[in-house]
Amino acid sequence: MTERQVEIMTDYQELRETVALSSRIMAASGSGDFIWGHVSARDPEARGVWLKQASWGLEEITPERVHLVNSDGEVLAGGGQRHSEYPIHTEIMAARPDVGGVVHVHSRYSVALAAAGAELHPVSHEANYFAPHGVPRFTKTADLILTTELGRSVAAALGEAEALFLVNHGVAVVGPDLQTATVAAVVLDRACRQQLLTAGYGGEPSWSGPEESLAKREHIYGGNARHQVWDYLVRQLPALRS
Ligand SMILES: [Zn+2]
Repeated sequence: MTERQVEIMTDYQELRETVALSSRIMAASGSGDFIWGHVSARDPEARGVWLKQASWGLEEITPERVHLVNSDGEVLAGGGQRHSEYPIHTEIMAARPDVGGVVHVHSRYSVALAAAGAELHPVSHEANYFAPHGVPRFTKTADLILTTELGRSVAAALGEAEALFLVNHGVAVVGPDLQTATVAAVVLDRACRQQLLTAGYGGEPSWSGPEESLAKREHIYGGNARHQVWDYLVRQLPALRS
């Protein structure tokens, strides 16, 4: 790394720590998939995104394994191998100025529910998080998002929502900061798991209507709750294995 790159890395130590913690939380919550899946935080100086490096599992991410990637996929600081699906992050951030963090993982229950063709319903608290936009479905391809053009299609499918099912692939989940996006991604997989459990039992499933859903979103996930959940998830993290 050049002296300037080392300087950039030092300036953004805290943000790189957040990316590392988010990665480890996603692994600890069961969304790991060997070396696949990645999270990012927006660079405050608009140079791109601070992204988890490729070739490592989510549970192995330390601040040193987070690098700065621009919208052309160039690694500006931090070295290491770049994830080929970086356009998911850069194109969502470009389309959504309100987004500060993006989580892309292949969470098992989210993939199962989306592949089954089911719409997400608030059968428990969790899915209310995603009211009023719900979780739209991206069906253009189930293959990797390797180009700017596909990244833009993903961003378009996400629209104003906070999460998107990449059907037969994974999810893209966003938030005003990476802490919030991470909590949303954990909540989404729990929501999907709950719905699969409910559907598996048969019976006559019920769920909240739109008005109750919005109220529950505010009552459960409003105020500081999402950052408090983040703090809780950080406290629960298993120690890093060297
Ligand atoms: Zn993927």
